[in-house]
Amino acid sequence: MRANGRLSLLVLTLCTAAVFAQDTPEPGSAEEISRATTEPQFLSPWVASIPASASVPSPRAFLKRIPGAAGELVDSATAYGYARALAAASPRVEVFTIGRSEEGRDIVLLAIADEAGIQSLAQLKKDTAALADPRTTDSAAAEQIVARARPIYYFNAALHSDETGSTESVLELAYRLAVSEQPMIQRIRQNLVVLINPVSNPDGRDKMVEWFYRYLKGKTDRSTLPRMSPPYWSKYAFVDINRDAHQLVHESTRAVSRMFFDWHPTVVHDLHESVALLMSWNGSGPYNPNIDPITFTEFQALSFHEVQTLTSFGMPGVSTWNFGEAFAHLYLDSVAMNHNSIGRGYETFGNGTAETLQWQLSPDQTSREWYRVQPPPSTPFRWSARDNVNYNETGALAALDLAATQSKMLLRSFYRKGFNSWRKGVDEPPYAFAIAEDQGDPMRVAQLIARLQSQHIEVHRANAAFTVKEGAFGSGTYLVRLDQPYRNYAVDLLSPQDFPKNGGEPYDDVSWELPAHYHVDAVAIADPAIKSVGVTPLAEPPQPRGKVTGNGPTFVLKDSGQEGLLEARYRLAKFKIEIAEHAFQVGETEYPAGSWLLPAQSGLGAALQDLTTHLALDFDSIASTPEVARHAAKAPRLGVWVPWADTDSIGWLRHTLDARNVPYSYVRDEDIRAGNLHAKYDVLLYGHVDLELAEQIHGLPKAWGPMPFKKTKQTPSHGTPASSDDITGGIGWEGLAQIQKFVESGGVLVTLGSGSMLALEGGLVRGVRRDSGGVPRSAGSGGAESAQAAVESATRTPGAHVRVSFAQPDHPIAYGYPAHTYVFRQNYPLYAVPRRWLRMAFCTTCLDGPSDPGGVVMQWGDTDSDQPFLISGQVWGESNLIGRPAILDMAVGHGRVVSFNFNPLHRDLNRGDQRLLWNALLNWEAILARRPDGDPL
Ligand SMILES: [Zn+2]
Repeated sequence: MRANGRLSLLVLTLCTAAVFAQDTPEPGSAEEISRATTEPQFLSPWVASIPASASVPSPRAFLKRIPGAAGELVDSATAYGYARALAAASPRVEVFTIGRSEEGRDIVLLAIADEAGIQSLAQLKKDTAALADPRTTDSAAAEQIVARARPIYYFNAALHSDETGSTESVLELAYRLAVSEQPMIQRIRQNLVVLINPVSNPDGRDKMVEWFYRYLKGKTDRSTLPRMSPPYWSKYAFVDINRDAHQLVHESTRAVSRMFFDWHPTVVHDLHESVALLMSWNGSGPYNPNIDPITFTEFQALSFHEVQTLTSFGMPGVSTWNFGEAFAHLYLDSVAMNHNSIGRGYETFGNGTAETLQWQLSPDQTSREWYRVQPPPSTPFRWSARDNVNYNETGALAALDLAATQSKMLLRSFYRKGFNSWRKGVDEPPYAFAIAEDQGDPMRVAQLIARLQSQHIEVHRANAAFTVKEGAFGSGTYLVRLDQPYRNYAVDLLSPQDFPKNGGEPYDDVSWELPAHYHVDAVAIADPAIKSVGVTPLAEPPQPRGKVTGNGPTFVLKDSGQEGLLEARYRLAKFKIEIAEHAFQVGETEYPAGSWLLPAQSGLGAALQDLTTHLALDFDSIASTPEVARHAAKAPRLGVWVPWADTDSIGWLRHTLDARNVPYSYVRDEDIRAGNLHAKYDVLLYGHVDLELAEQIHGLPKAWGPMPFKKTKQTPSHGTPASSDDITGGIGWEGLAQIQKFVESGGVLVTLGSGSMLALEGGLVRGVRRDSGGVPRSAGSGGAESAQAAVESATRTPGAHVRVSFAQPDHPIAYGYPAHTYVFRQNYPLYAVPRRWLRMAFCTTCLDGPSDPGGVVMQWGDTDSDQPFLISGQVWGESNLIGRPAILDMAVGHGRVVSFNFNPLHRDLNRGDQRLLWNALLNWEAILARRPDGDPL
């Protein structure tokens, strides 16, 4: 097999020899690549050697090894050093800095084209920008621009830090594109501008490279490898760094977004590693209805061309289609999908480590399918970092080859998609979305508007009050007119999603509707009269201001659902604040429960002025404190526990707290084990983690330990944002006992999402039974068919907005919300309403006693209304969810456990849900005092 493979490579090389005649291989490079490639069939003639250049340093000369050499990884400084050396030596390469990471590392971009292209980059950028806006570029002008313009093709490497091969691949690709004189590559240089971001997340790259040399180098036995990734890839993010398209929180995404609107690339191509041997994304459907269908035909064409090219080289295991659904476009490449370009990506086969490993793939990875006609080997094989580079680079060259030969078509389609999007807004209802500025929390409305603007969606304000068929709107109402090139994305962000019920299992969230995330009304306006409403473009993000009325001495703040109240509480940390437990009236004004009462205190007036500018809060002056039941609301000493085993979702949580200047202690597993928690924290917050119960308790296997994550001479990037002498072992039973002690002695434990498993199933709280979610515990007598039916009807809310109602509308967690509202929910375990133990002899161990719904604060669904359960996205098996607890507040000893069956801090998106959590933090003392009788069990 090996000999045959060599023979076929030889034949192939001979067949294509004419194409490669111009390049002289750098001496020794072909031999080195051949040695690093484990099977001849894992190599293509396009990358079988490195072309020699008299003037430009090759990556092999620079690194003193070939890219993808076993046992070596390039860090960000070295990769950038090479990028700069390449640009300094080649007139076909230019280097730019497009961002700076959270930890202060540059994010660098290479541009590669022929000399003429590099000299006219400014003009080429102007051309694509002109094609992006059909309002100022008519079809005739567009055709003239297309004649001289070039598609810009962008490659993104190393977003996911343990997918290590892409940086190695693109450094060699950059050099090859710069120096090779093969006709195919000349054509790519002449017809395209190729952009390469070799290390899009440099913080993570450096942490990973150091991790490799510290823990993985030299280890080639997969069965005994330790954890293959550091616990952090950057200040906040891990895998979810690739779920940031709509919100643009992480610097890696922000840099790519800035690049996008600077260059208007036709293609954004993101390089990942999770499928053998190369999977070119085009999604299995359903496809998003708000993206121009041209995009989907384009990305299929590119994918099939790659499959065809690599398969014709005899490279096995190249496929497309069977990955993700392409309904949600919330990933890094989605900046292109959502803005009339093409977003795409690869999953190649990465080892994680740079060492060569032995693999035996499962039958489902090696079956012959229409989308995988030449499957990967079904017998054991060795796979090297160079094999991965060979596939990555050959695929990239195939994509560039197609883009270069079809460059004019790609540009015309890019223009056409912007044109179609704009014309839809002109010709079809809705013509605009109207968003009133006064919706209880002007700051949250402003934040939604700012988020639209950050996506280059244009927003206007109405110059005067107006009335259309849909209703009357005040002066200053925000209007998102849809006669703009990014109309499709505006519609996608502002409308409910409708994921098809028969659309299969989605890959990630199925709803990202911003009005639902922000609890803000955005009214779709189909009345054409909206077109004649006078508007002013909004150039900057809106900055609403609040006001302080009067000079005190006592002030009152009306709770109208403001999200900024937690930040306000900490900004006013030194002042006494009380919160009303019932509605009250002062003069003509009604103040609902949750409103703040601020007794006379020196310096208060000035401090409140500060809040009006930062948080748009209104404070009214009153002569004396009204008679209403109220409680003191001291800002809690907040601890945020981040288990070493999963830092991802809690990274978003930390970002949200940091963005609001909320002080908290970062609590590690070892800090929990050390105990004495109640002396340090009033509230311990444990966010959503993607871990089962045993992993939540015991963390990373102790067998790997001790595993330090700390700054040393050899690992200077480790130890941030937190440091450890040993990240293995979790909190253990001892830590769980310390949490129990914390709660029993009067602490408040707040758990979110799957973090609630620890409280409800780990034994901190008794009486709450986990339910199987409609899936029977065993197939039983019904046989396979009924088991399958049960699975299909199993409850799933995979990132959807669904209705909830408060079982205790007077609970402090309900402040600022109507009794019936909605929240965002991903898939979490289902829990039953708490039950008491049945004190009967025949059933001392079961939980079939009478239900004790006293702990249920909020429940799923709204049984008082006939409104559909679903707000946006899709749900399955909801009948088994409705009526179950969504938020529990359970007394344990002197303390409380407040458990959310959803994540109110999901990726900085569902800002309308955040107040629920803020309420628990603001009113922690009142919650403790609420049922002084203690343990109800
Ligand atoms: Zn990835």
